[in-house]
Amino acid sequence: MKLTDEIRNLRGRKQMLRDRRLHDACHEASHAVMALHHGHPFTIVLVGDETVGGQRLRGRLMLASGRVYTDTAIPAAKVALAGHCFNRIVNPHVNDAVLGLLGTMGDLRMAIDCVKFWAGGDDAQTEFIIFKSIVPQVHKFLIENWETILRIGTALAARGKLSYAEVKKLAATKSTAPRIKWLEKNVLDKASRI
Ligand SMILES: [Zn+2]
Repeated sequence: MKLTDEIRNLRGRKQMLRDRRLHDACHEASHAVMALHHGHPFTIVLVGDETVGGQRLRGRLMLASGRVYTDTAIPAAKVALAGHCFNRIVNPHVNDAVLGLLGTMGDLRMAIDCVKFWAGGDDAQTEFIIFKSIVPQVHKFLIENWETILRIGTALAARGKLSYAEVKKLAATKSTAPRIKWLEKNVLDKASRI
């Protein structure tokens, strides 16, 4: 992936390359913001090294349920891929083998499982849907929601864990950036006309 200006200028990106905890917290925040967007419930989001079931983790989002249904399989794949796409945005030059070592293979595996289930076990269709449809959508979503991800990731890095309610509250916090303020005002005006 090329390092475009759109990616180069994202706030906090360079700091994430130097600060592993902030990086990992923002990775988990990407999962969390995508989960909120799709109303996909989770209980808690954590950051920090731990070993769970023999697997070494650097953070995790605990979904309210491990079950995936036909109508929730694609959103679940997007939630999983948010972590993978986040790592690619922060460091576009790393290849997939390195990303695997950085812990996004679990994200990819879960996304593949969900989409394959949705596609009735068709491998070619699964691959096409993930890489041609879902990944570009998730990439766009993360860039559009970067400030929210950074805000939640910064809080997570400081506190170590955040509940679903805390993430929801942080996601709704108004930004002080004038452009965002203006957009929020527009949304409110629109809503008040309904
Ligand atoms: Zn992840």
